[in-house]
Amino acid sequence: MKRVLFADARAHDPEYEGSLPAKLEELLSRAGLERCVAPGDYVAVKLHLGSQGAFRTVRPVFVRKVVEAVRQAGGKPFVAETTRIPGLEYLEVAAANGYTHHTCGAPVILADGIFGRDSVPVRVEGGRLVQEVGVASAVHDAPAMVVLTHAKGHMGPGFGGALKNIAMGGLGTRNRANQTNRGHLHTLENRPPAWERERCTWCLTCAKICPVGAIRIEVRERWELEEARCDRCGRCVRSCEDGALSLPLSEELFARGMAEAARAVLSTFGPGKVLYVNFVLEVQPECDCMPSADTPVVQDQGILVGDDPVAVDQASLDLIDAAVPLPLSRAADRGIAEPGNLLGRLHGKRPELVLEYARELGLGEREYYLERVRRKRS
Ligand code: SF4
Ligand code: SF4
Repeated sequence: MKRVLFADARAHDPEYEGSLPAKLEELLSRAGLERCVAPGDYVAVKLHLGSQGAFRTVRPVFVRKVVEAVRQAGGKPFVAETTRIPGLEYLEVAAANGYTHHTCGAPVILADGIFGRDSVPVRVEGGRLVQEVGVASAVHDAPAMVVLTHAKGHMGPGFGGALKNIAMGGLGTRNRANQTNRGHLHTLENRPPAWERERCTWCLTCAKICPVGAIRIEVRERWELEEARCDRCGRCVRSCEDGALSLPLSEELFARGMAEAARAVLSTFGPGKVLYVNFVLEVQPECDCMPSADTPVVQDQGILVGDDPVAVDQASLDLIDAAVPLPLSRAADRGIAEPGNLLGRLHGKRPELVLEYARELGLGEREYYLERVRRKRS
């Protein structure tokens, strides 16, 4: 049974030591960050930087706490994410969302380069679906990593946790030879979105929302997709309210592919060199790659830390499942008022699938116990 450290989001006393940033300091100290980081190690602080409009990501104040803790442990931290839109534009979005060298206390870089092509081929041991992935070079070459994850919903696996952050966010974005890349993982059949003319209302949303400009609608009745440009990210599909777009997204394939990719990314690190920090705060129904962020579906729960990505994700999911769905949220829109499998019900998915595949692949355990941290020791 794996230990997962947990600090709840409530401030039980009015002193700094009872605040969530202070509790994060305590969590990192109790988790033994200094055992993960050797003096002089470059340490990737892996983070999703959000999108223009998706602002419910991990707050910079928490990123800075992690950066400071890594430095105290003797490491050299850098904040890393892989490209999801063209690199320079993504860094501008990151800055607008509050992630800069100044706010985070460390350089903010794109781990696969500003063109998304900077990746290293890694064989997937035991890969049934994915034989080789292109791991973003700055993640691949870093000797240690702290994975900061905003727990939320996701159209693919139902839940976006640490495993998704590693698998999707640890890969380069652009195709190289036969490697599986981030976009390819979204649709292992590797087909772009399909369009149904009869359903299309020509609202133009898909063309506006595509981060790489792959969709062109120049005149009504003419919808064109530039297949070579399309990253298979699924944004357009999620945004089409008329159901005119679909991706050949098999739930099992996606979950299995994610677990296999996560295994490949983690195989580039030595034992004990990765720590996971999940933020079960502002749990919105969709991924942070969408161009908006809906209101949270449950109240803020807190922060979880551990050295097992499966256990940390399982504990995060269990907290969300045990919480009462909030009014004025998508849960309320769907008439979901009782706790239990909330993200699964919102997306019609089985969020536990990826956890089970990851367990099978030896990435961790679903059995855990929570060790609670109420305040920072003074
Ligand atoms: S978002 Fe859907 S309905 Fe709107 S133009 Fe695109 S395919 Fe058509
Ligand atoms: S899946 Fe849709 S939004 Fe994403 S890159 Fe392809 S066309 Fe653009």
